[in-house]
This record gives sequence, C-alpha cells and structure tokens, in this order.
Amino acid sequence: MGYADAKRSFETEKREDFSEIRNLCTKCGASRLNEELIKYGSYCMNCFDQYCKQAPSYFNDDIKDYSGDPKGWARRIIDRHAAGRHVSKIALQFANEALGTKYEP
Ligand SMILES: [Zn+2]
Repeated sequence: MGYADAKRSFETEKREDFSEIRNLCTKCGASRLNEELIKYGSYCMNCFDQYCKQAPSYFNDDIKDYSGDPKGWARRIIDRHAAGRHVSKIALQFANEALGTKYEP
C-alpha cells in the first residue's frame, strides 16, 4: 500500500469519527488532520516516516558536537538528561563526577 492509498484510507476512516480539525505539519507545512499531527509529534505521516528513517542511532543523536572534548561523553550525558531524554542514573552519576558537577537525579 503506497502512501497515497494509506493517506486516503486514513482520511476516509477518520472522517467519520473526528471533525475535520486540521493543522499544519511543522516540517513540510502540509495541511493534515489534527489527529494525525498529534499522533506523529506535529509531523504529518510522511514526514514522520522520513524522520524515522533518518533517526540517528543511539550514539549519533548528540545535541551538540563534542568532538575534541575529552569529557564530551560526560557532557553528552548531562545534556541528554537536561533535554529530558532517558539517561541511566549511574551514567548520570559518572558524568557528574567526571565534570565535577553536582549529581541531581
Ligand atoms: Zn509533513
């Protein structure tokens, strides 16, 4: 089933259950059903699909470039935590110890 078909069936299906509240995809600006945007994190289904394909691996999802920083690994953990992403408590503790910062779970 291609994207166009999926889109058509999605819209046909949902039309009965939801009023046609539409909003714009934050990535491509396409007008989509609000339901779809909520489901895919403010992206349309197409953009979300592309986002998933591009989604970097665990080690490549850095917020910043830490190369050249000997304590980059620790800063990465702190920044990931600050960004509200999952970081294990022990990793966070080690990172704080390495940077000499206070450990706040
Ligand atoms: Zn989009």
